[in-house]
Amino acid sequence: MQANDILAIDQAHAWHPYTSTRDRDPVYPVRAARGCRIELSDGRELIDGMSSWWCAIHGYNHPVLNQAARDQLERMAHVMFGGLTHEPAAQLVERLVAITPEPLQHVFLCDSGSVSVEVAIKMALQFWQAAGRPERHRLLTIRRGYHGDTFNAMSVCDPVTGMHHLFSATLPQQVFAPAPECRYGEPCTPAAIAEFAALIERHQHELAAVILEPIVQGAGGMRFYSADYLAQVRALCDRFDVLLIADEIATGFGRTGRLFACEHAGIAPDIMTVGKALTGGYMTLAATLASARVADTISAAAPGAFMHGPTFMGNPLACAVANASLGLLLEDDWQGRVAAIAAGLERGLAPARALPGVAEVRVLGAIGVVEMIEPVAMREIQRRFVERGVWVRPFGRLIYLMPPFVITPEELEALCAAVVAVVADSAAD
Ligand SMILES: *Cc1c(COP(=O)(O)O)cnc(C)c1O
Repeated sequence: MQANDILAIDQAHAWHPYTSTRDRDPVYPVRAARGCRIELSDGRELIDGMSSWWCAIHGYNHPVLNQAARDQLERMAHVMFGGLTHEPAAQLVERLVAITPEPLQHVFLCDSGSVSVEVAIKMALQFWQAAGRPERHRLLTIRRGYHGDTFNAMSVCDPVTGMHHLFSATLPQQVFAPAPECRYGEPCTPAAIAEFAALIERHQHELAAVILEPIVQGAGGMRFYSADYLAQVRALCDRFDVLLIADEIATGFGRTGRLFACEHAGIAPDIMTVGKALTGGYMTLAATLASARVADTISAAAPGAFMHGPTFMGNPLACAVANASLGLLLEDDWQGRVAAIAAGLERGLAPARALPGVAEVRVLGAIGVVEMIEPVAMREIQRRFVERGVWVRPFGRLIYLMPPFVITPEELEALCAAVVAVVADSAAD
């Protein structure tokens, strides 16, 4: 197919994420992608600054991941996970248990991040049912969070920046604490956690769990908060016997400089969700991990089973690629790579601090954020990035980079330079 034919069909029938079918955002047809480069149909090459939304940590078209998919394809693409099991799933759950905090011992494989959040919430609710406390069914979370687009996930997204206020009348009403104001690298004063502490105390009798993104709040604002805050949340959950769900879907697998962001605070959640980079961006796959206490309590009470089971659960192709991706990550000096990217982002984005219209520039691990004072004109700014040969997709007031870990220093420099140039241009408009 020619690029124009693809575009015409796309325009007529394809609905893109968060878009209108009438007032259409421009889309760019992609022919191929390899390493850190996305090749458009017209032959232009873009340096990837997004890792396709946190996923493609090893870059695109990786020979090891390709081979893992091919090898598994020759055996079987899929079998049901009810009553059957297989090596790719066994290897994956063993590895996930080995690399996540110690209390997490049981892995429920899911199809996508949002589903893994639904599963985590269902686990928390079923836990309290099983424990004879069914009135504990609400969730406490912090503002500026993002946990996915399905219904219960929506109920714990930020009511304003979470993009779901339209549905608020039909969503379960959860308890929201303010977004943490203490920043990453700083201590958390008693005042900074006071409202969270008051809410958990006031609502303890009806709370099933606290759910939050550890350290980095992603799609709800790209904010980095104090590890001390997270440690205090864990302590408060212990004190009031509320479960802690850590949503590591964006932060997991090294992005923040630790394998999992909970490690910044040295804490373990009772339930943890992972997704996004789990398969290195090849296939949709996520997982919900539970502590032995959560799993045993659910399993010991009626109906004696956890009530969830997706059709494509434990998809062998996805598990095989996930195993290969984890292998690549852990055999590599990923800490060194992420630290080098952090230094490169810090250096490359620093000039943006002096530009008009810029509120703040911040970097944590392989995440670089230029926060503007006003929302950016997305279509126009994206066109300018493409013209400069980079793929960056801002939202709201945020222009951010989270490149594949395999990005070269030269590519990273070019990526940062493009961000600085586009921010400078838009200030000049
Ligand atoms: C992306 C994301 C989700 C949702 O994952 P999907 O795969 O898009 O359903 C949930 N939580 C966090 C923190 C995310 O970044």
